[in-house]
Amino acid sequence: MLARMSSPSQPGRVLSFADARRTVEEQARTLRAGGADELELLSALGRVLADAIVADRDFPPFPRATRDGYAVRSSELRKVSADLKVIAEIKAGGSYKGKLGPGECAEIMTGAPVPHGADAVVMVEYTARAGERVEIRRGVAAGENVVPTGSEARAGAELVPQGARLSYPQVAVAAAVGCARVRVYRRPRIAILSAGDEIVEISATPGPHQIRNSNSYSLAAQVAAAGGEPVRLPIAPDQPKPLRALIEKGLEADLLLLTGGVSMGKYDLVEQVLSELQARFLFTGAQIQPGRPVVFGKAEGKYFFGLPGNPISTMVTFDLFVRPMIDALCGAPVPPLVVVQAKLKAEFKTKTGLTRFLPAVLAGESEVEPVRWQGSGDIAANARANCYLVVPPDRERLAAGELVSVLLR
Ligand code: AMP
Ligand code: MG
Repeated sequence: MLARMSSPSQPGRVLSFADARRTVEEQARTLRAGGADELELLSALGRVLADAIVADRDFPPFPRATRDGYAVRSSELRKVSADLKVIAEIKAGGSYKGKLGPGECAEIMTGAPVPHGADAVVMVEYTARAGERVEIRRGVAAGENVVPTGSEARAGAELVPQGARLSYPQVAVAAAVGCARVRVYRRPRIAILSAGDEIVEISATPGPHQIRNSNSYSLAAQVAAAGGEPVRLPIAPDQPKPLRALIEKGLEADLLLLTGGVSMGKYDLVEQVLSELQARFLFTGAQIQPGRPVVFGKAEGKYFFGLPGNPISTMVTFDLFVRPMIDALCGAPVPPLVVVQAKLKAEFKTKTGLTRFLPAVLAGESEVEPVRWQGSGDIAANARANCYLVVPPDRERLAAGELVSVLLR
């Protein structure tokens, strides 16, 4: 049980945040999705496209009026007002087979095809109708209020690339080209293993010194939100044998997430057991807070993360490092971290040396304020936050009103 001492010599590899993130991104780019399913469009929501969505015809398929009004020959309206003859009424879904001649116009509705001869639509607000004739009170430029055939996309053009995640804008495109079913990549199976003698199932009544297993649940929620299929394993005790058996089980999935047991304590056995499994460690720590003891590596052909057990550390390190791996396993490109700038509400002091990701509230006119917390175990404080304030490692003091980086979540 002398964990560290008997651990086979994996050299400690503590990276800066930027280097740790780069390391993960490099490995993520080597990953591929494992097969595809054909699903009904709405069942594929949130999944990643295995095939591009292609225009089945020109978009729009006809010159489309974008206003209710009158289709006109714009050259006849250089001087207004002008009096034109209304020769047709064209509603959405209808058409006019003929061609507008001099002095003629057609009443037209939004979404209807602009007739031959016409090159613009005058909005109904700028007209006065009297029987067969209409007075046009404003001129229009050629092309105004008309979207030409094929101007959005030509038939055969790629509208959404393979590898894109299906959200509502992509669903709109798929629906418009008639993709009632789409081929999407399988969801990767992400094993989740919590380690710790003090951890009990959430349905259990904990003893006075026991803790419910919140991490397996927050991780499962994060995995599902990232597009993976969470596979929760039983809680591992702080004993090498059962821990090893569960780690081996976890390595059957596409990615293994461990939480707990990666700090410097005597019973933090995760790295030891992984070493016994001939793991290659890409890093064994990152200069961040929370989450410094985070571990990343590969064993038995699968990647794993050892996430620190403190609940906020677990959640933050997932966002910082695990997400790109899941995206890649889903068949999507590795996404950048989305950092925005906001004004710091009040002065903030800390120590240099670590990049900090502090639960914070972004509110009002883009003003950010860290939440009061008792450290990286304070799940209630984290639940009141909606972002992380990012403090660079070389900053001891951030001034009130300063523009600071905020990581959205
Ligand atoms: P460790 O990383 O094992 O040293 O654990 C750090 C802290 O996180 C300890 O206070 C643990 O009790 C807590 N912790 C570890 N695993 C979990 C878990 N699965 N759910 C909630 N808290 C945990
Ligand atoms: Mg522990």
